[in-house]
Amino acid sequence: MIGRTTLMMIKPDAISKGYIGAILAKINDAGFKIVAMKYLKLTLKQAEEFYKVHSDKGFYNNLTQFMSSGPIVAAIIEKDNAVDDYRKLIGATDPGKADEGTVRKLYGASIENNAVHGSDSDENAIIESDFFFSKLERF
Ligand code: ADP
Ligand code: MG
Repeated sequence: MIGRTTLMMIKPDAISKGYIGAILAKINDAGFKIVAMKYLKLTLKQAEEFYKVHSDKGFYNNLTQFMSSGPIVAAIIEKDNAVDDYRKLIGATDPGKADEGTVRKLYGASIENNAVHGSDSDENAIIESDFFFSKLERF
């Protein structure tokens, strides 16, 4: 499994705009298998824990408030080269700089409200997956 999975989230902005189905369809069409999935709302404390690697950044407070402002979808998805291929599918952090057809270009509004999250390495994919899911919740 190592190297074959990544952790994705659909962020509150995309949920409130009704994009869950469209985003999951893109993930499905790109050949990912869903290993685990849940719909939940993070507390501010949980968002701070998830994003603690960014705690020194100027955008940390806004980011953690945004990510705890409404429900999210979190999922572990699986495919060869999952981390890199999913990041290619979603595009650049800033939707304005993301390639045509990418999830962030299609559904993101701004560098903060950018519709989706994706792990940046195999190591963080494991840490982030363990944040949301127990072994019993993975298939
Ligand atoms: P990515 O999600 O592409 O891996 P980062 O890990 O650098 O991007 O940042 C985490 C999240 O923090 C981004 O997805 C975005 O929601 C937010 N963010 C990043 N940079 C900025 C910024 N300059 N201003 C506001 N929010 C930002
Ligand atoms: Mg990141």
